Amino acid sequence: MKSKNEFVDTVIATLRKALSSENSKLTPLHAPHFSGNEWNYLKECLDTGWVSSVGPFVDRFEKELASFTGAKYAVAVVNGTAALHISLLLSGVLPGDEVLMPSLTFVATANAITYCQAVPHFVDSTENTLGINVDKLNDYLLEIAYIKDGNCYNRFTGRRIAALVPMHTFGHPADLEGILLICEKFSLTLVEDAAESLGSLYKGQHTGTFGKAGAISFNGNKIMTTGGGGAIITNDESLAKQAKHLTTTAKVPHSWHFIHDRTGFNYRMPNINAALGCAQLEQLPFFIERKRRLAHLYSEMFQQVSGIRFFRESTGSRSNYWLNTLILDTDYASELESLLKQTNEEGIMTRPVWRLLHELPMYVDCPSMDLSGSRDLERRILNIPSGVELI
Ligand SMILES: *Cc1c(COP(=O)(O)O)cnc(C)c1O
Repeated sequence: MKSKNEFVDTVIATLRKALSSENSKLTPLHAPHFSGNEWNYLKECLDTGWVSSVGPFVDRFEKELASFTGAKYAVAVVNGTAALHISLLLSGVLPGDEVLMPSLTFVATANAITYCQAVPHFVDSTENTLGINVDKLNDYLLEIAYIKDGNCYNRFTGRRIAALVPMHTFGHPADLEGILLICEKFSLTLVEDAAESLGSLYKGQHTGTFGKAGAISFNGNKIMTTGGGGAIITNDESLAKQAKHLTTTAKVPHSWHFIHDRTGFNYRMPNINAALGCAQLEQLPFFIERKRRLAHLYSEMFQQVSGIRFFRESTGSRSNYWLNTLILDTDYASELESLLKQTNEEGIMTRPVWRLLHELPMYVDCPSMDLSGSRDLERRILNIPSGVELI
């Protein structure tokens, strides 16, 4: 075994070489890239006055997004969290229900469940996909869940378990085949948090299209951006219609009267953001190709480094490699903090994974299964610069 200092030095030298970075330059974790029609489309918005919640770019963006993902429908909204919130509401998540989701995800997944007055129920993740550990979840549900009248219940809390929300971590598809089997076996509705996985395929099918609905984010740090934005993708026509209605203050169409038939949300994506989205979507295949090339380069370079491995997509998956990830061997997990410190000090931006959600103050009392896999990953994940301009 190499000494710990030697290990840290080798990792940093390899990163420097992959990025051909000079000491003076800051290499961000991720940066948006605007080299297409962004200016033209934004100018069109300003010239025509269509800047707000209706306009031709919103319709066009929704159509093009549906076509890109292969979903029948896409509904553009203000951000990915809102997309998740509405997806869950329209998938039948009710106040007092529990919703299964990984502890290893961004806080928005749990927040959206909470907005439905439902309770996040945390499940474990696996190093194979960085997503839900399906075998472990199956065993857990056999132990804690029972089915009555076509619904799944938690025998310890008495609450209904309404849905399962996998998240495709850093763009890598979770084990969707296993997840679908669990949903079927335990009568759970599948809603995918595909916020990070636009352009990622599982067995040739776009992530976010496997269940009732999927949520995508176009925040500034994601693979493509609309400034802020999100979308619900679905193959369910009725859900898509309701999503559009609910996200536009539930306004009943009328030429002049203001009639709203339920408490809706002002979640509609403005035209100006959709204009940016149309321009970015045109470049998305190019972004993905660049990201996959960068991932390949990292992968080759880190093959020579012991004590750490570059995370690769699993067989059958095609990842967008939104964020590139190194995973430290257990023996070197103690060096994560010094790697973070030294890389950031010299301008190579790196980040650990999120603090596990079941440890956050508002979620500590939520039910959870054994999360040893997630806790182990939390100590060993290092995200490294992933922008499309790096290669
Ligand atoms: C970014 C993200 C979201 C939320 O998207 P916003 O557009 O920031 O609201 C939800 N879940 C995951 C996993 C994300 O990475």
